Amino acid sequence: MSLIEEIIRPDVREMSAYPVPDSNGFLKLDAMENPFPLPDNLKARLGSVLAEVALNRYPVPSYRSLKAKIRQHMGIPEGYDVVLGNGSDELISIIALACARKDKPAKILAPVPSFVMYALSAHIAGMEFVGVPLKADLTLDLDAMLAAIKKERPAVVYLANPHNPTGTLFTDDEIVSIIRAMENIGLVISDEAYQPFAEASFMNRLPEFPNLLVMRTVSKLGLAGIRLGYMSARPELLAEFDKVRPPYNVNVLTEATAEFAMDHIDVFNKQAEVIRSEREKLALALKRLPGIEVFPSRANFLTIRLQNADQVFEKLVSHKVLIKNIGKMHALLANCLRITVSSPEENKVFLDRFSACIQ
Ligand code: PMP
Repeated sequence: MSLIEEIIRPDVREMSAYPVPDSNGFLKLDAMENPFPLPDNLKARLGSVLAEVALNRYPVPSYRSLKAKIRQHMGIPEGYDVVLGNGSDELISIIALACARKDKPAKILAPVPSFVMYALSAHIAGMEFVGVPLKADLTLDLDAMLAAIKKERPAVVYLANPHNPTGTLFTDDEIVSIIRAMENIGLVISDEAYQPFAEASFMNRLPEFPNLLVMRTVSKLGLAGIRLGYMSARPELLAEFDKVRPPYNVNVLTEATAEFAMDHIDVFNKQAEVIRSEREKLALALKRLPGIEVFPSRANFLTIRLQNADQVFEKLVSHKVLIKNIGKMHALLANCLRITVSSPEENKVFLDRFSACIQ
């Protein structure tokens, strides 16, 4: 037996790493990034801020100043704190690690298809993942969710709201029904990665629900490169997750950049506003094309269905346009593609090339 076979878990050896395609030279509309760079005057000021960061020191693990700015600008309720993560990806892993009890098997439940990290984090932590299919129109199957909660009694339910990969915003009533059904069973996580484009949130409702946790990221707001996520819940619950967090998980450059970004949050909020209006224009333009079904989206991407999606995707690649082919992710997504909404200029280039590719 080789060393690898001897020491690495068989299920890990069977896994493949998260695939990220090479996007060099492409119009990159595959990863829900904000297309707008920091304005030049802010770039220069951030440069001088970063020059003063003490790279020789570990971060101070309380992250007091950054957390205070997040609490102030992100609508965290009075008396509530945040736990920071190296992206919300890390927060998702922390939650699984903290909930993967050895004495009684614990489950993570989410609608499927959904963000891959929910299932992946469960798997790596040794928890069972229960997927509850969306309806055929890609909306939430609330009855199926409630029945599955009753049967499976999961430790954690994830609701990406707006949902990835569909862009659907679940209704407040749907979410409240799920939170109530999970009372005395487990946690509901409202993953609000796309909140800047939805203008809807459960953050202000945290005090109503002791089993609710709200998770966000700065990635979609224009800071995907710095890797910062945050989550809030009632203090006693949050403190448990903080024990699992590696103490220096947010590096000093991320910390300083995020503080700077919080001080200029209006710049990012304005960019999100442009993207929201571009989303509506792009959706309208796509709907006008023959044979394209556009699913309603409150995120910074549009999920569409069309015939021959695989061929269209490949044609787009040959025209140097990279979107995400989600058709193989789940049977419900057959012939679906996901397009990140970009700047007016990039959206126009996309539409021109896309129109040519569906001919
Ligand atoms: N949650 C959802 C629903 C997402 O779609 C993503 C990323 N695509 C994340 C979390 C992870 O975000 P981050 O960049 O903060 O790790």
